[in-house]
Amino acid sequence: MTQERSRRRSDVRVPVQPSATRSPVLFVDDEPTVCRAFERLFRGTNASVTTAESPAQALDLARARQFKVVVTDLRMPGMDGLTLIERLRGIQPQLVFIIVTGMPDLDLRRSASTDASILSTVAKPWDADDLREMVERAVELYDRRLHPVSSMPPGRFSVLVVEDDPDDAAHVKRLLERRCDAMVEVAGRVGEAEVLLTTRQPDVIISDLSLPDARGVDAVRRIRRAASESAVIVMSGIDDEALARQSLRLGAQDFLLKGSLDGAQLERALVRAREREAYVNRLVSLAHFDPLTGLANRRTLQDRYNVARVLARQQGTQLGFLSVDLDRFKTINDTLGHEAGDKLLQEVARRLRACVREHDTVARLGGDEFAVLLTELDEAESATVVAQRLVDSMRSPVELDGASVLVTMSVGSIVPELDATLDDVLRTADKTMYQAKRSGRNQVVHAGGARSRESTDRLSLESEISEAVRERRFTLAYQPQYAIADHTLVGFEALMRWTRQDGTPVSPGVFIPLLEELRLISDLGPWLLEEACAELVRFRGLTGRSDVRMAVNLSGQQFERPGLVEAVGEALDFAGLEPAALELEITENLLMRDTNRTRGMLDGLADLGVRVAIDDFGTGYSSLAYLQRFRVSTLKIDRCFIQRLNEDKGSCIAEAIIGLGQRLGMEIVAEGVETCEQLERLARERCDIAQGFLFSRPLPSTEPFHQVASLAVG
Ligand code: C2E
Ligand code: MG
Ligand code: MG
Repeated sequence: MTQERSRRRSDVRVPVQPSATRSPVLFVDDEPTVCRAFERLFRGTNASVTTAESPAQALDLARARQFKVVVTDLRMPGMDGLTLIERLRGIQPQLVFIIVTGMPDLDLRRSASTDASILSTVAKPWDADDLREMVERAVELYDRRLHPVSSMPPGRFSVLVVEDDPDDAAHVKRLLERRCDAMVEVAGRVGEAEVLLTTRQPDVIISDLSLPDARGVDAVRRIRRAASESAVIVMSGIDDEALARQSLRLGAQDFLLKGSLDGAQLERALVRAREREAYVNRLVSLAHFDPLTGLANRRTLQDRYNVARVLARQQGTQLGFLSVDLDRFKTINDTLGHEAGDKLLQEVARRLRACVREHDTVARLGGDEFAVLLTELDEAESATVVAQRLVDSMRSPVELDGASVLVTMSVGSIVPELDATLDDVLRTADKTMYQAKRSGRNQVVHAGGARSRESTDRLSLESEISEAVRERRFTLAYQPQYAIADHTLVGFEALMRWTRQDGTPVSPGVFIPLLEELRLISDLGPWLLEEACAELVRFRGLTGRSDVRMAVNLSGQQFERPGLVEAVGEALDFAGLEPAALELEITENLLMRDTNRTRGMLDGLADLGVRVAIDDFGTGYSSLAYLQRFRVSTLKIDRCFIQRLNEDKGSCIAEAIIGLGQRLGMEIVAEGVETCEQLERLARERCDIAQGFLFSRPLPSTEPFHQVASLAVG
């Protein structure tokens, strides 16, 4: 050791600098005499020393002036040295620190976050030469750290050699540069390597095992911690099998003997170490991150949550937790393909990350489910603010292979109790998120916050509608459809209605999605068909108009349930209606799930002789090619295009749909016709059928129509 020390000392370069560029060093100690001693020590050197006799004064100084190095005592009244270091780093992130302490063994509890910038710990009373040398090294490190490695010639490998023996270091460096075409940096101690590694990520670190500030496996451990992504090779003068094995267990990739080093061996070791490290890093990353988006996975979320709870309790802050789910992602995935779906998820991940701070965690838990853990919140409202930001971030469309897709998300926001498990938190947040879905999607619902009354409302709505399904407490309203050419009645569309126990009607836009969410809509299917068929039979009986038909809306869930064709056949038989009397309306997104099942179902219905209409046509993700593939009898142009009939673009789309349908031999129904102008325009385009408030609102029963089976309008 003594030999080592003297060699190091003679090796120290004392850079000669004009006084204007003397390196600013800050010394902090609550003992004035120690401060004076430090000042004396550096008189006439290149260090320009400022002293602070309290941590508070040190912080003030750091706010006012740039330093390169801070040398600090650990035990001071008011604030301990490690906390001071953390604070100072917040003000000047590049600072290099040296600790002087009277009880080095006791005080060597180092905190992980400050570790990297602490060059060394020096015992009090200090050895003057030692301390001076350390400060010089720290200054040099500060300067080196600021210079990016890219200013060096590029090599095949970048290598950091940690070796205190200058001869050994020079030898290895030479071998690496000449034989392995490597770009090499040298650090004389582990502390120095730690500081350097905050701004560099070499491919490989080759480290001696007996260094002035760490020995054996301790050196390996500290180096691995400072550079988790670089491969580490250890090198030792003695052939110690146990030490070698221990090092490998700590994550070193190889163990080399100094005496027998040669270029070829070194190169082999470098290549192998780098490859193995890359492989291990990939495995580690797979275990902790979602490979598609690079976001945290559930396991990482669990880890971060555990830490966040503890910190929140210590700091007296709160956590926020958001459950995020894309609206109708399945449709996009089914329609545009999985590749586009993947791209969309990546873009969503990017936007979510951009909405939160560095220390928050965004995780993907599967499919289109995301979770966000927000830490260090001063108030609960902040969680909802961030949640709203997420929803807003989806305002601009996502470009996917030329298609521009608008996606929305529903977010449930909660402020978890700090003793809740992650499972509990996820469950509550998910529940809240589903409330957001049910309230119409594309929004935030906050549990326990301002909207809690609404959420309890939701819950009671949920139980009430479940009961209503069991007791069939729904009614149907019927909206007539007319042939545009002669204004004769063609048929009706049956529309479901639901009124709550207290008498408030609930819009189908709210309760139909709720029924779908609760997977209850299929339960109503048979009843709906029966009811609508019975109404048609009654109408025909009253008017003698046996050519009038009935349209019934079918949700995706009903469509996917096996046995639909049979159920429809039975309902028709039961009512004594011919199959062509019934038209089933499905949405175009349903068709886009271009599965054999879909085709089989549509074929079955067509074979039966039942008509199939595509509802809300033009609003989904349809490709017109699909239309040819399926046996569909009717296209219903969505209301939004009818409303825009007097605009150039809107009328274009309506006209195109009409032209297309005609060419494919389909009947075209215009939905939501409200004005005579719209009707005239549709007549000119030879649209077949119109339905809308212009003729009639949906009515509780077809009965009033038996007198007006033919209407004159306009
Ligand atoms: P939809 O199938 O497109 O039904 C047409 C909607 O447009 C109805 O809304 C109707 O009242 C409305 N409407 C008709 N004419 C006009 C008009 O001139 N102007 C305007 N502004 N609106 C008009 P409603 O009854 O609120 O139903 C909304 C949606 O709920 C329906 O859209 C349908 O998707 C769904 N729905 C209704 N009943 C059922 C059902 O029994 N089963 C299923 N699966 N869905 C249903
Ligand atoms: Mg409809
Ligand atoms: Mg419609």
